[in-house]
Amino acid sequence: MLTPSHLQQLTRQGMIEQALRQVDIEHEFSLVFQPVIDLRSWRTVAFEALARWNSPELGDVPPGQFIPIAERIGLINRLTTHLLGKALLIASDWPRHICLSFNLSAHDCASDEIAGQIIEIIKASHFDARRLDLEITETAIMQDVVKVQHTIDRFCRLGCGVALDDFGTGYSSLSQLLSLALTKIKIDRTFITGIDENPTRYKIVKSLVALSSDMQLECIAEGVETREELEALISLGCFFVQGYYFSQPMHHSHIDNWLKDN
Ligand code: C2E
Ligand code: CA
Ligand code: CA
Repeated sequence: MLTPSHLQQLTRQGMIEQALRQVDIEHEFSLVFQPVIDLRSWRTVAFEALARWNSPELGDVPPGQFIPIAERIGLINRLTTHLLGKALLIASDWPRHICLSFNLSAHDCASDEIAGQIIEIIKASHFDARRLDLEITETAIMQDVVKVQHTIDRFCRLGCGVALDDFGTGYSSLSQLLSLALTKIKIDRTFITGIDENPTRYKIVKSLVALSSDMQLECIAEGVETREELEALISLGCFFVQGYYFSQPMHHSHIDNWLKDN
């Protein structure tokens, strides 16, 4: 039986779907950027692009709500290609040592045609592909490992890095994941929150950091919010971090000043 909160959720999803069906991608979507910090130098080494939607009917809708619906109604590829082009254009103004990370959805990696479009956009941008990381979630990979593996190989041939996002959340086979041509893993925030006072999380992150080091993959911890979490990560030898402790995602116009202050 549907509870009132289920019903509310369904109504909300219906409203999002309706608004997405008539969305003006160009004007309603934008990007914000969150810095990735290398703790060895305390310097910003990259920014992750995150989508934002300001709908005239619904106001700000978070990506966690609109991405799954955009995937379901077949809008995600148009969104990805638009946002990727925009992100590459913005990042082409950054100093050459600063990289860009961009999130792909499961659908983007499941179709040869879409992967081809993504590759064309990267080539046409003249942005050095070696400065670009494409982030793919563990759950996206597990939907069709063989297909995603093929897509990842195509991205790698172009020179891009491929990061495994939300690592640890997908219950996937480790051997299958590690057989992919990944260059980075991103440890999900659920393991980082309270890592300093939760021995289980500490042990999990410890083994993920060791695993990434054995596999010669870079490891990034997401969602660092406190000094104590940061110190626990330093003690584990995790050098790349992202989180509100350093910065919320920012508008691209703030990046210059951020890099100067940093
Ligand atoms: P994600 O890729 O794991 O991105 C990290 C999310 O955590 C972002 O939420 C970011 O704003 C948030 N975050 C960063 N630091 C902290 C922190 O210290 N504490 C907390 N509580 N949160 C933090 P956001 O922007 O709402 O994005 C949610 C998810 O939506 C992303 O998770 C990603 O999976 C997806 N997403 C965002 N932009 C895009 C996009 O352009 N394309 C696709 N396909 N997915 C996107
Ligand atoms: Ca991500
Ligand atoms: Ca993530």
